[in-house]
Amino acid sequence: MVTSALVALVFALQVGPFTVGPITAQPGRAASGYLIAAETPDGVPQVPVTVVHGARPGPVIALISGNHGYEYTPILASQRLRTRLDPAQLSGTAILVHVANVPSFLGRTIYYSPVDGKNLNRVYPGVKDGTISQKIAYAITKDVIEKADVVLDLHCGDGNESLRPYVYLPVTGNATMDAAMKELALAFGMDHMVIDRGRPTDPAKSLYCSTTAVTRGKPAITVESGFLGVRDDESIARIETGVLSVMRHLKILPGEPARVEHPVYLDPAEVLTSPATGILYPHVERGMSVAKGTLIATVTDFFGKTIGEVRSPFAGVVLYVVATPPISKGEPVGMIGTPAP
Ligand SMILES: [Zn+2]
Repeated sequence: MVTSALVALVFALQVGPFTVGPITAQPGRAASGYLIAAETPDGVPQVPVTVVHGARPGPVIALISGNHGYEYTPILASQRLRTRLDPAQLSGTAILVHVANVPSFLGRTIYYSPVDGKNLNRVYPGVKDGTISQKIAYAITKDVIEKADVVLDLHCGDGNESLRPYVYLPVTGNATMDAAMKELALAFGMDHMVIDRGRPTDPAKSLYCSTTAVTRGKPAITVESGFLGVRDDESIARIETGVLSVMRHLKILPGEPARVEHPVYLDPAEVLTSPATGILYPHVERGMSVAKGTLIATVTDFFGKTIGEVRSPFAGVVLYVVATPPISKGEPVGMIGTPAP
């Protein structure tokens, strides 16, 4: 007992406290708080965060949920992870952003903030004195991403999207970075991986949360598990399991990761958009295999006359399809990915 207490003390002296914005966690402790004081019209503070700080040194992982506020499975997984992560077990630190986009969560909006109309996951790295979405992005960039070594951006199908699980695996051309991100994706345990080229390369115009990390030299992946605003246990558990497996891969947690044995790399993958505004009728289900030219969805006007259709440009898997009726011209209707040989 004396020895282990002494070891803990030595590590505590070695590790020191860890601070994220106004939140400071001592070694072997967890601490929670908010990054931004009340600034919205309803006076709710923004960006609830928990720092789980290990007693032993190690990497820092950021687990960011709720960039889209109607994506509930990562938000609920984040709650569960807060109770499952025991700081005494950690060699390193986990920063949990429980709900990045509180205005969208409380306002029950898909894609866009009800306060400023912006898509939080398109305004990174944010603006210090900008609109609420820009401020949130700025706080997450400065206080979370810049303090992390690895970032997992946790999503699911938005409130209108019927989605099968997959990971966005960025390809940057930097071999070391690309290999690290591939290992993260394999360690997460979901076998479908969209090969994601063409993300921004300028750290000042990174737009996406995960790209903000990548353009700052930190490996990051974006995870999708869940759909249509449903709190289904399987999708939540898949995120929890994946996060814990990645933390084992990084040696933040003891034990072996559960790696994907037979990855399905989707390349090309394409978001299909609507040719018209009106009422959407999807003709496929999430996860279906479709041939080139398969009718994915039709759009009618508000009287029922068909005014547009969307067909698959190639054979592949339906990664998601919009499954609720409203659709505007140019908005996503679904995403198809072709399994690479
Ligand atoms: Zn999302």
